[in-house]
Amino acid sequence: MIKTDTLHCGYCGGHVELPEDPAAVVASCPFCNRTFSIPDELLKAREENLNRIQADKRRAEENDARERANQEARRQLRWRLATIVVPILLISAGVTALIVYIQSQVASSQSALPSPSRSLPQNMPAASPPAPPPPEYSTDPDKTGATQVAARMKALYESGCRSIVHVAKQANGDIAWTPQFPDSKRADCLMVFAMTGYPENVLDLKMITPFGEPMPGPPPGPVIEHLFCGDTGGAHPLSVTATNGAPYTFAAIGCPRRLARKMRQK
Ligand SMILES: [Zn+2]
Repeated sequence: MIKTDTLHCGYCGGHVELPEDPAAVVASCPFCNRTFSIPDELLKAREENLNRIQADKRRAEENDARERANQEARRQLRWRLATIVVPILLISAGVTALIVYIQSQVASSQSALPSPSRSLPQNMPAASPPAPPPPEYSTDPDKTGATQVAARMKALYESGCRSIVHVAKQANGDIAWTPQFPDSKRADCLMVFAMTGYPENVLDLKMITPFGEPMPGPPPGPVIEHLFCGDTGGAHPLSVTATNGAPYTFAAIGCPRRLARKMRQK
């Protein structure tokens, strides 16, 4: 590459710095003080060099301008995104806050309402839950115990127990009945029946003497047949306690004492 800023003096051979002005065509030697023309080839090289420098400068300026334009475009894009996204975020936050506020207002207004139980006067009992519907019991005589009681009464009647003291009758729940015993040691004994086809209805039959003493009775169960033989006449309170409301059949029949004695021996 040709050196374009210095040359050697054509007269004295001294080292001459060329003027900075690229349009200059002459130079002065500081050693011999003569002025001489800058050679054409050096002028041409200086011009080319100058053009190259200016082109480099233009390119650098163009690059700078492009970079600035890119930065400005990115800044504009960020701003535009912000102007879109920020309002959306603000609006959604506001809507959420409004929903929460409305819900809290609704909840507080509901809790502020007097509850039905509190609105009742203190001396009124709260409505009790509806009672379960009563169980449907069958009227089938096998289930009410009528068939079983009738069969046993007929058998005893055939055996000689001819005094029907209490007719066979369907019952639900407890029974209280006070038969009168004759004032005789030879009076009939009383055969009492309490029978049901519902095995869960455990019946408890009890009789007490006129003196208030319990007479020997049967164990509780759904099918009861028990013979009471009194030593004294008078009122003998009898009770049947039922476990539930299932139907059962109650009856009582008088049996001669000699027959009762036989039945007990069996
Ligand atoms: Zn010179």
